[in-house]
Amino acid sequence: MTQGCGPVKGANGGGCGVGLTPEQRRILLEHGTEYPGSSPLNDEKRAGIYACAGCGRDLFSSTTKYESGSGWPSFFQPLEGAVETTQDGSHGMVRTEVHCANCQGHLGHVFPDGPPPTGLRYCMNGLALDFRPAAGEKA
Ligand SMILES: [Zn+2]
Repeated sequence: MTQGCGPVKGANGGGCGVGLTPEQRRILLEHGTEYPGSSPLNDEKRAGIYACAGCGRDLFSSTTKYESGSGWPSFFQPLEGAVETTQDGSHGMVRTEVHCANCQGHLGHVFPDGPPPTGLRYCMNGLALDFRPAAGEKA
């Protein structure tokens, strides 16, 4: 995994964007959203770490993942310092957008209707995440 390689760049610009699919780039670079229920990570139950698909930085632990029923992989807490948020006023409502603190790639949104202890729901695009099973889990 490459760490700290700076902002995500496009297909031909080198840097962290290399190796991403067009759909991943649409989400990470253009703030897109995947179709709900489309990510295999919705059903991912193994222990492990969810890293940024753009730069490989660790973002979420499987211990904070829960079944929100939203159709997107959901977490109640990111790893410390892993993500940053901005207010997003598009689509006629104010939402809090979540992006990778390392490469600024767009990940999803956070909503105040999650479970304890945080009460937050980090609603992530599975395509923006790269799951790495913990040692001892089936690959
Ligand atoms: Zn990143």
